[in-house]
Amino acid sequence: MTKVAIVFLDGVGLGEDDPLVNPLAAARLPALMDALDGRRLVAASGRIDAPRATMVPTDAGLGVKGRPQSATGQAALLTGRNAPKILGEHYGPRPNAVLRSMLEGPTLFTRLLAEQRAVAFVNAYPQGYFDAVARGKRLHGAIPHAAQAAGLRLRTAEDLAAGRALSVDLTNAAWRSTMGYPDMPLWTPWEAGQVLARLSSAHDLVFFDNWATDVAGHGGNLAESVRVMEEIDAFLGGLLAAVDLDATLVAIISDHGNIEDLRAKGHTENLTPTLLIGAGHQRAAEAISDLTHVMPMVLDVMRDA
Ligand SMILES: [Zn+2]
Repeated sequence: MTKVAIVFLDGVGLGEDDPLVNPLAAARLPALMDALDGRRLVAASGRIDAPRATMVPTDAGLGVKGRPQSATGQAALLTGRNAPKILGEHYGPRPNAVLRSMLEGPTLFTRLLAEQRAVAFVNAYPQGYFDAVARGKRLHGAIPHAAQAAGLRLRTAEDLAAGRALSVDLTNAAWRSTMGYPDMPLWTPWEAGQVLARLSSAHDLVFFDNWATDVAGHGGNLAESVRVMEEIDAFLGGLLAAVDLDATLVAIISDHGNIEDLRAKGHTENLTPTLLIGAGHQRAAEAISDLTHVMPMVLDVMRDA
């Protein structure tokens, strides 16, 4: 049975091959370039067919005018439904009532749990996050909302300290410096990738939601965006070195463009990369042309003997 490890990168599109505006063109990304046979994650690469990986440019607009947003894009990824069309607009970042009820219905998570698959949503959240949600001061994003609605546990600081979860900053440095956990172990991004590989070996599906890319895109700073991309690449290097790619499909997906064009601090209408590495990548890629195809593709890959 094929396992799937999903690394969701919020706000990563396929942009111009211009290192002055696109951190994916400027950054040193050896793990990604190695998987892609030396090609870059930019629009000019088109679809990339490499021995170990396939990258499919993916439509995030879904036939709805305007710039794609996170809540509708993530709902499309998790439910396989055209969330922006159902809503009549691209909406985000946090899901409104219509999207929340959609995310409380059938999703990638509920479908796999109904088949008795071991599923882990591996993001760690600090106690302050849980407190803010409980006080009504904060709404879950679409992905944790769907995870929790499916009955998955949201992971905690204790899980992170024990290597059962991951931090969006990959190194846990922010937990020590600003989130009130001075004793949280520090990891390199590579080590964080190895943590995800270990979690993947213990589950059928692991899902990691990384939104540092979208934050960097909104910030519009090239050096900071390059730093974020290079840390993610080191993380992917650690993951790909440790995961069994004969038995596991690593799927790197996004919900809309943003970081790939720093001339604007908002989202873009660019295609997003769906990067499939390892077990069944070629066949899985055949099923993808827009965001709604990701969820059925993952179910199909995992049902394959
Ligand atoms: Zn955004």
